[in-house]
Amino acid sequence: MAACTGKSVKTACPYCGVGCGVVATPQADGSVAISGDGEHPANFGKLCSKGGALGETLSLDDRLLHPEANGVRVSWDEALDLVASRFSQTIAQHGRDSVALYVSGQLLTEDYYVANKLVKGFIGTANIDTNSRLCMASSVAGHRRAFGADTVPGTYEDFEEADLVVLVGSNLAWCHPVLHQRLARARERRGTKVVVIDPRATATCDIADLHLPVAPDADVALFLGLLARLEQDGALDAAYVGAHTSGAEPALALARNVSVDQIADLTGIDAATLERFYALWSQTSRVVTVYSQGVNQSTSGSDKVNAIINCHLLTGRIGRPGMGPFSVTGQPNAMGGREVGGLANMLAAHMQIENAGDRDRVQRFWSSPAIAQKPGLKAVDLFRAIGTGQIKAVWIIGTNPVDSIPDADAARAALLACPFVVVSDVIRETDTTACAHVLLPAAAWGEKDGTVTNSERRITRQRAFLPLPGEARPDWRIICDVASRMGFPDAFAFPNAAAIFREHAALSAFENDGARDFDIGALSELDDVAFDALAPVQWPQRAGAPAADARFFAQGGFFTPDRRARFVPTHLPSRAKLTTRERPFTLNTGRIRDQWHTMTRTGKAPRLMAHAPEPFCELHPQDAARIGVKHGDLVDIDAGHARAVMRAVITPQQRRGSVFAPMHWTDRFAARARIGALVDPACDPVSGQPGLKNTPVSVTPFASAWTGFAVAARRPAPKTDYWALAPVEGGWRMELAAGAPPDDWQAFAAGLFGIDAGAADWVAYHDRAGFSHRVATFVGDRLAGALFVGAGAAALSRSFLSDALALAHTPEARFRLLAGRAGGAQEDPGALVCACYSVGANAISKAALAGACSVEAIGAKLKAGTNCGSCRSEIRRLLDERRLEEAV
Ligand code: SF4
Repeated sequence: MAACTGKSVKTACPYCGVGCGVVATPQADGSVAISGDGEHPANFGKLCSKGGALGETLSLDDRLLHPEANGVRVSWDEALDLVASRFSQTIAQHGRDSVALYVSGQLLTEDYYVANKLVKGFIGTANIDTNSRLCMASSVAGHRRAFGADTVPGTYEDFEEADLVVLVGSNLAWCHPVLHQRLARARERRGTKVVVIDPRATATCDIADLHLPVAPDADVALFLGLLARLEQDGALDAAYVGAHTSGAEPALALARNVSVDQIADLTGIDAATLERFYALWSQTSRVVTVYSQGVNQSTSGSDKVNAIINCHLLTGRIGRPGMGPFSVTGQPNAMGGREVGGLANMLAAHMQIENAGDRDRVQRFWSSPAIAQKPGLKAVDLFRAIGTGQIKAVWIIGTNPVDSIPDADAARAALLACPFVVVSDVIRETDTTACAHVLLPAAAWGEKDGTVTNSERRITRQRAFLPLPGEARPDWRIICDVASRMGFPDAFAFPNAAAIFREHAALSAFENDGARDFDIGALSELDDVAFDALAPVQWPQRAGAPAADARFFAQGGFFTPDRRARFVPTHLPSRAKLTTRERPFTLNTGRIRDQWHTMTRTGKAPRLMAHAPEPFCELHPQDAARIGVKHGDLVDIDAGHARAVMRAVITPQQRRGSVFAPMHWTDRFAARARIGALVDPACDPVSGQPGLKNTPVSVTPFASAWTGFAVAARRPAPKTDYWALAPVEGGWRMELAAGAPPDDWQAFAAGLFGIDAGAADWVAYHDRAGFSHRVATFVGDRLAGALFVGAGAAALSRSFLSDALALAHTPEARFRLLAGRAGGAQEDPGALVCACYSVGANAISKAALAGACSVEAIGAKLKAGTNCGSCRSEIRRLLDERRLEEAV
C-alpha cells in the first residue's frame, strides 16, 4: 500500500491510556502532518506534546525491516518455520509450560487476541504475560476482588462532572496530559476541588487545592482512615450498602481500629491536613478518585485499589455522574489487552481462568485442542523462570524488558542464556533485540490496522496511513503464520484484522447472559467496510439490547455470583522500613513529560528530547546538602545489585528521603541509566505487579576528573564513564564525564566523532592551567563536531551549540563558536520549556521582563502553554523564581 498523499486518516495515539483521536495526513514531501481529531470524545482535537510530535517519529533509519536469524537476514518462510519448529520441539521435549510469550500494551486488540488464543487455547499453557503487568495489574486485581470483574465504572465526563477529584499516585499533568487539561478546564468552569496524593509535588499540583505528600506505600493507611471517618460522619449510604454490597462490617472493623495519630505517623501527613482531606471527601457527594501507577506499582497495590474502592462503595458514590473510583491506564491498549485476556491469570473476554465453566466455554468457542488449566507465570516470575531454565523458548512482542523489568540485568542475563529467544519489534537495535536469536520485523504505528481501548472503555480504530516498509508485517499476521505452522491453520486463518475483531466480539457475547461485563456482541457482525468506518465506541455494546448506560454500578449489578460488590478488608501496612543505613533513600521511578517508555519513538524527536536531554534524578535540598551534592552534579545511585549515574536536580518538590528517577533511559542513550536494573523485583502478592517506586538505594557524588559537552553531526560512540546522548536537528548533543583526562583532546574528539583527526579541519582553544579545552572540527562550512571540556563547560549554551550543527560557518564564525554561546544580536532561547511551540526558558524570562507576568500573559505573547498545557506549571515556576529574585 502506498501512502495516500493529502488524504487524512483518523486513527488513535499510540502512547498513553487517554486514547486521543489523531488525524494523520501524509504530505507530498514524505512527512506526515498530525493533528488532534476534533470529533474524538477523548480529546476533542487536543493533543499533548508527545502526540503532537508523532510525525517526527516515523523515519525508517532505525527500523527492523527484514527477518533475521542469528544475525543473518533470512526469508519470512525461513524465520517462521524456525520459530514454529523450535517452539513445537520445545513443547514436545519439555512440555507446554516450557514456552512463553511476553507481549505488550502497545499491541492492537487483534494482535493481542490471536497471541492469547494461540497460547491459552492451542499450546495449552497460560504462560503469556504482558508489560501491562508492570502498569495496572493491581487495578485489575482490585476490580475483580470488589466488582467480580475488571470493570472501570466511570467515564472521562466524570472528571468534568465531579465537585472533587482526588488524584492518587497520578501525575496526570505529565502522564495523561489531555485528561489533565479537561480537568483543569472543568475546575475553571465549576470550581472543582482537586486533591493530589503523591510523595512528590508534581506538575499536577499546579491545579491542586490540597497536596498530600504521602510516604511511600502508605496509601492504604490513608484510605483506611477515610473509611472510618466516612462512617463517623454518617456518609455511609445504608440503602446502597444493604442492597448491593457485602462485607462492609469486617472492612469497617479494621478501619475503626486505626487512630489518626497512627495514620499521621505512617503517611507522614499531619493531622490537620488529614482532617482537611477527610472532611472534603466526606462532605462532597460528587467525588472521583483517580489512581494510576503510584497506586498500582506497589507491593501493596491491590490493597490500595480496594481501600479506595471501599470508600466509594460505602458512600454509594459509584456509577453516577461525577462519582466513582477511576483507574487510568498507562498504555494505549492496556484495556484491550485486558479484554482479550492478555494477562497470565485471565482468560479471553474477561472470563476467569480459575473457573472451569469459563474454561469450557472458551474452549468450545475456539474448538481448541487444549485450554490452559491454571494461571501462567506473571512477568517477574516469567523472567525468573527463563533464568532458571524452566522456560526454554520465549517470544517477546513489542516491548523492551531488558530495560523495563525490575532487576533488569538479571532479565538480560536470563535471555542471553535462554536456548531460544524471538523478538518481534519495530526497531532493529534495542537492549532486548540484542538478546534475540530470531528478529521479526513488525509493522509500526501508522502502518497498523485494528483497534485499541482507552481508560474509559472506548474502542477506537487505529488505521494505517503509511505503506508497510521493507518486509515488515502486522503482529497479528506473524502470530497467525506461526500458529498455522505449529499445526493450527484453520483456527488462525484470518484474512484481516476485521475478521479477528468479529471473532473477539462474538466471544464476548458467547453464552453471555449479562453475567459478564465485557460484551461487544453488537459489533460482531460488522463487515469489513463497517469495521473500517467504525467510530469510537464505548462498551458494553450488547447485541439486541437498548444502548446501555455508559457507566456501571449505579444500581448495583456487580459481576459476582450474588451480584453484590465485595468490600475487601485492608490492613494497616507495617512500619517496616525498607531503607537501611547503607541505602537510606527510597528510589521512586516514573515517567517524564515528553518521553514514552524506553524512548524508541520519542527519542527520535529532537524537540521531545530537548526538555530533559540527559538522565536525571530529583533530590530534596536538605538531602542534597547532607550528602554534598549540588544542583547539576552527577550522582551515583546504588541499589546493591545495580548502579546508575544521573544528573542531580535539587528541588523542594521532592520528598525528603526519596530520590525520583525517570524510567526511560536505556543503553542506547546513556552509559548507565537503566533504572529498571536497580528496581527491587518484589511484587504485590495478589496482582503480581512489582513495586517500582520503593527500592532502597544510596546516593553519593559521582567522582570524575573532568566533565564536558559535545555536539556531533553523526551519532557518536562515547566510551567515557558517563555519557548521555540526545538527538538535535542536524546531529547529536552529549554530556560526558570520566576519570583521567586524555593527553590529546583533539585525538579524543576525533575518536568521539568517528573522524580521521589528521584529515579534519580544526579550531581549538586550550587553557591547560585553567583546565579548559575547546575543539571544533568542520567539513566544508559545516560543523562536524565540537567538544568543550573543563572550566566553563557548565555555562555553555547547549541550545546555541546544538543549533550550530544546522548552520553554515564562515572562517571567522568558527572561532566564535568556541565561545560556546551566542554573541551580538543572536538570541539564546535557553532550555526548552514548551515542547509544543519550542519555547525556551530564556524567552519566557525575557517576556516576563517585558511585563508578561502570568502564565496566561506568557501564553498570549509566546503561545507557550496554550496547547497541551503540560508546561504551565514550569512556566509558573519560572515566573515565581523571577519574582523571588526581584524581591531579594
Ligand atoms: Fe497521546 Fe498525549 Fe493523548 Fe496520551 S494525552 S493519548 S500521549 S496525545
